[in-house]
Amino acid sequence: MRQLNVFFDVDHTLVMWNGQLRPHALEVFQRIKEQGHTIYVWSGVGIRRYDMIKHGLHEYVTGYYVKPLERYKERLPDYKVDVTPDFVIDDYPQVIAAFDAGYHISDILKKDDAELLEVLRLIELCAAESEPTADETTA
Ligand SMILES: [Mg+2]
Repeated sequence: MRQLNVFFDVDHTLVMWNGQLRPHALEVFQRIKEQGHTIYVWSGVGIRRYDMIKHGLHEYVTGYYVKPLERYKERLPDYKVDVTPDFVIDDYPQVIAAFDAGYHISDILKKDDAELLEVLRLIELCAAESEPTADETTA
């Protein structure tokens, strides 16, 4: 099982337009950490440590970054992002397209919104699929 660097956007991904935390955020952050992955939070409008503290998620977050507003992957060094995002969750589809794996999350809550549970399921799948084979490790 590969351990992934999981990058969450904030606005309309974790924190909705009304300032409320998206349903299942706490349990999903807990589960991702339990599975040995590393959680980063980034945002195009700045470092969002305070928002994560306010919503009780900070203890699960390893680092905060400012997200490039375009050319997401190419510009990572400009933004001092020194880890590789393996799985990104964002309401903006271009961000997902720029990286190897991720989930385009709806920017509006569905009834009984369970999008973050789907994110957890996909992270589990991604980690399992990424497991190197014996051939790859010896190549
Ligand atoms: Mg967003």
